[in-house]
Amino acid sequence: MSERKRVLTGDRPTGKLHLGHYVGSLQNRVKLQDEYECYFLIADLHMLTTRPTHEDIEEMRENIRQMVLDYLAVGIDPAKSTIYLQSAVHAVYEMNLIFEMLVTLPRLTRLPSIKDMARAANLDDESVPFGLIGYPVLQAADILMPRAHLVPVGKDNEAHVEITREIARRFNNLYGEVFPVPDVLLSDVPTLVGTDGKAKMSKSLNNAIFLSDDPKTVEKKVRGMYTDPNRIRADIPGTVEGNPVFIYHDVFNPNKEEVEDLKARYRAGAVGDVEVKEKLARALNAFLDPIRERRAQYEKERGLVEEIIYIGTLKMGEIADQTLDDMKRAMGLRGIWRNIERKARERMKQQTALPRP
Ligand code: ATP
Ligand code: MG
Repeated sequence: MSERKRVLTGDRPTGKLHLGHYVGSLQNRVKLQDEYECYFLIADLHMLTTRPTHEDIEEMRENIRQMVLDYLAVGIDPAKSTIYLQSAVHAVYEMNLIFEMLVTLPRLTRLPSIKDMARAANLDDESVPFGLIGYPVLQAADILMPRAHLVPVGKDNEAHVEITREIARRFNNLYGEVFPVPDVLLSDVPTLVGTDGKAKMSKSLNNAIFLSDDPKTVEKKVRGMYTDPNRIRADIPGTVEGNPVFIYHDVFNPNKEEVEDLKARYRAGAVGDVEVKEKLARALNAFLDPIRERRAQYEKERGLVEEIIYIGTLKMGEIADQTLDDMKRAMGLRGIWRNIERKARERMKQQTALPRP
């Protein structure tokens, strides 16, 4: 394995990616590509934790394509980074099982994120699948598979990476140093609010602006954005702090002078929502334009997305086999099997073979 440190992160193929994904994780990925060896996974197995039907799986086919187009559009470079399909790397199923032994059930069931995901999927306590409880364990298998050092994710994922860290430490303590203990990398905006003012922009909450939205759609979404609810007229002083329109201005509008001017006038009751929102829509569209252009270019290339995933998955398969082998060796499982194999073969060379079952 090379000298460069490694990054692993990924996304569930729920559909197109949005500004929250960009701000929370994608922008860091793009930045890290030159310094780190990067692995980005399409977490289709994680989808099965709440959506296991044939229909759900069929839906992923197009989602995977759209998601990888988003990766390429924001500047993830397949010549530098490896993009792979989780379910096609068989070692992940084995690692998942081994890691299940290294974490307690209460540690997992206490995680608020698991409860949130169950709620979002309309599952009551009695209907939560074992696999959903194990969501962070499967994530540990993903992260430890290429022995990643750094995991750029949004805030909602921080507690999961902590589970990975605990599993890595536990494994190393029990069996010897096999894994680096990975660090989480949060961005300056660890959670982007939704257009409706809810804490998290999320596809399922219907409060997302997608990287692939066209300019008119962006304008429409911005016009409908939640602002200061107490400001019923433009001449009433408004609150800037925590106001999603200004949060987006801060994140996406590079014209700081314009933003400060809007804030000052908003606080003084000297600007209408319409102007604030028009300027935001303009800034967002300027930010999204080059992303849209690159997306359109890649979209034209038949089979390109598939080739990228295919090559990446084969590469990860090799890395994963090596890690799994090292794990089994460290644990002594490999030795048990090798011993059985050696003794069996010796005998089989000398004696007539036992009748086969
Ligand atoms: P959605 O709720 O829209 O389906 P998700 O959170 O389910 O998105 P995941 O595949 O679980 O999507 O997450 C992909 C990455 O994007 C994770 O690192 C997650 O923390 C990050 N992320 C998702 N939404 C946001 C957000 N609103 N702000 C910051 N980061 C986010
Ligand atoms: Mg999530």
